[in-house]
Formats: sequence, C-alpha cells, structure tokens
Amino acid sequence: MFTMLNKLQNYSEQAIQAARYIGQGFIVTLDHMNRLPITIQYPYEKLIPSERFRGRIHFEFDKCIACEVCVRVCPINLPVVDWEFKKKLKKKQLKNYSIDFGVCIFCGNCVEYCPTNCLSMTEEYELSIYDRHDLNYDQIALGRLPISVIEDSTIQTISNLNYLFEGNIKSYSNLKNITNFLD
Ligand code: SF4
Ligand code: SF4
Repeated sequence: MFTMLNKLQNYSEQAIQAARYIGQGFIVTLDHMNRLPITIQYPYEKLIPSERFRGRIHFEFDKCIACEVCVRVCPINLPVVDWEFKKKLKKKQLKNYSIDFGVCIFCGNCVEYCPTNCLSMTEEYELSIYDRHDLNYDQIALGRLPISVIEDSTIQTISNLNYLFEGNIKSYSNLKNITNFLD
C-alpha cells in the first residue's frame, strides 16, 4: 500500500513538472508571435547609416598634395600614392592614387590625418563584388560621389533599429516575469 502511494506521488510530481515545461515552451512561442521583426528585407528595405558611419572613402584628386601622411598613419600602409617631382614647380605632382577596399579596415585614420581634407568617409556600404581585385579603387572610382540610400526611391528606408531593441527588452522582461511565476 505504502509503495503504491509512493509511486502515485512520484507520478503526480512528474506530471506537474512536465506540464510546467510544456507551459514554459508555449509561453516562449506566444512571446515570439508578439515580437516585431528583427531583420529588414534587404535589398527592398535598407537601413539609413548613422551620421558617423565609416563607409567607402571618397577622394578629391585636386586637393591632394601627395604628402603621403595617409600612408604613414594607415595601420597597413594601404593607400598607394604615385607622384613625380616637378623640378620647374619644385613640388610633387600626383599621378595616381588608389585604396584597396578588399584590405582596408575602415579605421578612418587616413581621413582624420589628411592635411588637406581630400579624403572623407561616405555612407556607402555596398561593396560586394565578384572579383576581389575590383575592390582596388583608383582615383576615378574613389572620386565618384556616394550613392545615397535616402535618394533611392525604389526601396524603403529604415532609419534605425532602436525600436527593435526596446521591443526585445520588453518581451524579455515579460517572459522572465511569467517564467518566474511558473517556477
Ligand atoms: S594625406 Fe591627403 S594630401 Fe596627403 S597624400 Fe594622402 S590623400 Fe593626399
Ligand atoms: S581607412 Fe584605415 S585601413 Fe583604410 S586606408 Fe584609411 S587608414 Fe588605411
């Protein structure tokens, strides 16, 4: 009789535990159904980069004095400054300038230290390409004005994802309250 009562007690405890686990799982599912989307539908939707976003570098050929400061401050000595010395003018003349975005780490040092401000970071982040050698931009490619996400009327722009993080925090705290209650 005593063993049977013991078994019955064990069984009911296990049943309650199982019901609790099922309840927790169900609440997690319900909570996810309530959430706002975390992803954006790229390329139909695009994020507007923040003000200080470090995207593709823009270069103004006419402003460059071929001082090579950008090369010296670059952690990987990346910019290639090709110049010749003009004896008559007694100064350097820039012939070619290039940056390989396949190697660049977008640290912004070159932009920060350039004495003539001929370098600037743009909001352009779409640099995918089939051949990585095509990422080696010469002065013509570097001089192209950036494509602005805001000006593209074919896509929907999303200004920031802050609301998603707020939503997550709210859902997370709700979920914690419910699971605490179940425990
Ligand atoms: S630091 Fe500026 S001015 Fe000097 S070589 Fe580089 S881009 Fe040209
Ligand atoms: S952004 Fe940084 S890594 Fe890229 S070229 Fe400039 S200094 Fe070099």
